[in-house]
Amino acid sequence: MELAIDGLSKRYPNGTQALQDVSLRISAGMFGLLGPNGAGKSTIMRTLATLQEADSGTARLGDLDILRDKDGVRRILGYLPQEFGLYPREPAEDLLDHFASLKGITRRDERRGVVTSLLQQTNLYEHRRKALGTFSGGMKQRFGIAQALLGNPKVIIVDEPTAGLDPEERVRFHNLLAGISENVIVILSTHIVSDVSDLCGSMAIINNGRVLLSGAPSSLLSVLDGKVWKRVIASAESAAYNERYRVISTRLSSGRTVVRVLSDGSPGDGFDPVTPDLEDLYFATIKAN
Ligand code: ADP
Repeated sequence: MELAIDGLSKRYPNGTQALQDVSLRISAGMFGLLGPNGAGKSTIMRTLATLQEADSGTARLGDLDILRDKDGVRRILGYLPQEFGLYPREPAEDLLDHFASLKGITRRDERRGVVTSLLQQTNLYEHRRKALGTFSGGMKQRFGIAQALLGNPKVIIVDEPTAGLDPEERVRFHNLLAGISENVIVILSTHIVSDVSDLCGSMAIINNGRVLLSGAPSSLLSVLDGKVWKRVIASAESAAYNERYRVISTRLSSGRTVVRVLSDGSPGDGFDPVTPDLEDLYFATIKAN
């Protein structure tokens, strides 16, 4: 099943145009919504989660009108918001059981089975009696996924889930997401390019409320083939290179300053060709718009 978003626009009462004519096609698997802070990602996510209204546009999943049929959406949607409030004293198992009742799983034995299986799936079973306030960032996010998975959702929305996780927790969280995305649509919003390159079979880059690019990372990347060049420079030369070249990024690598530029042919001047990566595509796209 495909999620079809067409012409979504939103202006907040203070005049901020958060979304401008956003259209996307999203199929089963992991979809990365990549953009800097303030790009409009959360606005899209909250709109799809029926937590706020768009000014115009449509969003459909098969026959379901996501912007109108709020009860219908809540039956098929799992949502892990950016700010996930928890009850710090509550044991994980009890809170998940409570969420399961809210989702309409009224039979106690059925609920127990569902809760146990979700705690196992998210590697939290051994911590089930611990209060949520004692959980690490990664454990909280995995608990967030457990609650988002209640009721077998067809669409799961996760908003900036890996911000603040340490590398090991991030890998664990990535593996969990990869495991659940086989038959459902998982939309992952992030400003971290490697979240998308590690996980997503399709993606969109969004900035200033507009979709700048969307598709499969591998095919999107092919537009940069043969066009990305790099060289080591002295850090003081950085401004001069910015004047002279279309600089994609200036990064430190082993303490040295490496500049990457966009050029149809060899820029000469000591530049070497490199295989473009998603970070090149992201920065080149954001800078060009
Ligand atoms: P992202 O999730 O990509 O960081 P958001 O969707 O949160 O972006 O924000 C998009 C733009 O809308 C930003 O300029 C942000 O400041 C603004 N914005 C978000 N929420 C509100 C709000 N409730 N009222 C006014 N402006 C908002």
